[in-house]
Amino acid sequence: MIDHCGRDINYMRISVTELCNLRCKYCMPEEGICKRSHDEMMTAEETIDAVRAAVSLGISKIRITGGEPLVKRGIVQLCKQIAGIDGVRELCMTTNGTLLADCARDLKEAGLDRINISLDTLNPQKFRDITRLGDLQDVFDGIEAAFAAGFDAIKLNVVLMGGFNDDEIADFVALTKDRPLEVRFIELMPIGGGIDFDKGKFISCKRVLEAVPELVSLDLADGVAAMYQLPGAKGRVGLIRPISCEFCGDCNKIRLTADGMLKPCLHSDVEISIRGKSQAEMQEIMRQAILDKPQMRGMLDADNPSHAGRDMNRIGG
Ligand code: SAM
Ligand code: SF4
Repeated sequence: MIDHCGRDINYMRISVTELCNLRCKYCMPEEGICKRSHDEMMTAEETIDAVRAAVSLGISKIRITGGEPLVKRGIVQLCKQIAGIDGVRELCMTTNGTLLADCARDLKEAGLDRINISLDTLNPQKFRDITRLGDLQDVFDGIEAAFAAGFDAIKLNVVLMGGFNDDEIADFVALTKDRPLEVRFIELMPIGGGIDFDKGKFISCKRVLEAVPELVSLDLADGVAAMYQLPGAKGRVGLIRPISCEFCGDCNKIRLTADGMLKPCLHSDVEISIRGKSQAEMQEIMRQAILDKPQMRGMLDADNPSHAGRDMNRIGG
């Protein structure tokens, strides 16, 4: 469906849970969050209705996210149901990868097309530090399980943080030499818990090109990522620049939170509830939300944080 400024909105990100087994410092509070009661959250049936409503409006790509989607009970079955909906052309998931080793094959069989795995460091101590809880080996095992299950073009999401992983940029890029991995560097956003964490750590994606000048621009975009490649490499490198390069004109997505709020724009506090609505009512709410999707997000930097009004684990990235 075309919005009021001519953008084709064909992509919906669905957060299926606010809960997570990690506590990344830029995303979640150290103490975690209070588990909310079932009746405050979307049921699987409501989520399916929401996908059907979205598809009827021209949405064809769905991304499952969280919190951590793999801590959600019944996630494989939910993926299977969504993949089976006519009009869903691409079903993707963003995960921290720690629980993937045990379910990559089931997810593939359920119809999941693509996986993005978030990984900000290749160093076990630094991984434990930034996630407060995680074991890096679990993510490595998850990546291998995803390859073995037949997922191709696996994407690694790396949030760039000055003084934390800027010294690992070349190592991440080197991972693309021999495997069909897409390493996507993402600029840290001042949003939710990231607002305080962000101060002094933001670095622009330009730093990637300075660290690895051999990267060649492919003169194409994969969604909002500008694509690069090392000469002769099997994989690619994407730069996602929500801060240094405002890309609202190319935005093609809406978001649905686990508590049933439709978010037409990541950085706006406008949220419209679809929980407890019929599929027809959901369709009407989505149509209006897409029509009214904000044209631009406004200023965004450490001094002008996002107006999203939620931590990232309660939005889904
Ligand atoms: N738990 C899953 C994961 O980590 O991939 C899915 C949810 S997580 C909120 C989705 C994505 O948002 C991750 O790639 C994460 O790194 C990113 N993210 C979270 N907070 C962020 C921030 N302040 N700035 C940039 N990216 C952020
Ligand atoms: Fe959890 Fe993902 Fe947030 Fe990390 S980024 S705390 S893994 S939801």
